[in-house]
Amino acid sequence: MAAAPHQDPADRAGYAGHPPRMGFFTDTSVCIGCKACEVACKEWNAVPADALDLTGMSYDNTGGLGADNWRHVAFIEQRRPLGTAHTGVSHDDLDVLALAGQGTGAPEQAPATGTPPAGDIGADRPPQPDGRTELRWLMSSDVCKHCTEAACLDVCPTGSLFRTEFGTVVVQEDICNGCGYCIPACPYGVIDQRKDDGRAWKCTMCYDRLGAGLEPACAKACPTDSIQYGPLDELRERADARLRTLQDAGVDDARLYGRDPTDGVGGDGAFFLLLDEPETYGLPPDPVVTTRDLPGMWRRVGLAAGALAAAAVAAFVTTRRSR
Ligand code: SF4
Ligand code: SF4
Repeated sequence: MAAAPHQDPADRAGYAGHPPRMGFFTDTSVCIGCKACEVACKEWNAVPADALDLTGMSYDNTGGLGADNWRHVAFIEQRRPLGTAHTGVSHDDLDVLALAGQGTGAPEQAPATGTPPAGDIGADRPPQPDGRTELRWLMSSDVCKHCTEAACLDVCPTGSLFRTEFGTVVVQEDICNGCGYCIPACPYGVIDQRKDDGRAWKCTMCYDRLGAGLEPACAKACPTDSIQYGPLDELRERADARLRTLQDAGVDDARLYGRDPTDGVGGDGAFFLLLDEPETYGLPPDPVVTTRDLPGMWRRVGLAAGALAAAAVAAFVTTRRSR
């Protein structure tokens, strides 16, 4: 049975007359991997430059979200064409260096029959009349999910992490004491500590820009509108329509991730349209707010402590009487 939708987080935080909940809808089907979002985020928020070395295996030199990467554009190479994708096909055996050696032209010889050896991507089948090949890249700009039920915020002892009037989750670096409790609490592995002083950092959804009526820097910089910013309710409707369009066009693997307000985190303020399983993009398939069981655990701890105290008192009284 699906859980009931969660209360608006800004309501719950006590904001009266707050603006509508704002969020991100990231449509990965139109992401071109330009990384303009990563650059714009760093520039606007003065996030230190890093990930300047080439990995040699991918254009994804950022690697993942972190204290110094509040946006991360993933590049995932797969041996299947867009629109006729099959789930459950791994790309682990893909040899990108061998593939690069083949150049960009059509393969010289396509096999007459049978399945090509693993990694022989270009020879899998000749390009189709519409130009599609057996290789596709999935690109996706990941970010903090600004969860409805945000465990990072629940465990912060200083109030450094707080809920804004827009329903987003922001960390204030001048209050963070570097305790690090929020790091394991995040079910997505988003928030991270800087090595030099241990303070936690993550996307603020450009809280300063929102307050001035501007859209976040990453959404502003996105040239294909893969990153869409706006009232969350509107974004959900837009995403539903986009999903229908893709599925009608035969993109059967298209799905929404983080859109459902009854999921384990109450839905995400930043949700996605994906073209494959969440795990393919490094996202947990069924995230749960990690502080969900804390109230029950504390109740049990209280009961156990009460029982111990009662037993100690009973033992004391019994001992006194027997003297
Ligand atoms: S994704 Fe992680 S860091 Fe972002 S709001 Fe949710 S729990 Fe916090
Ligand atoms: S909303 Fe702002 S802080 Fe968050 S990823 Fe985009 S540019 Fe960076």
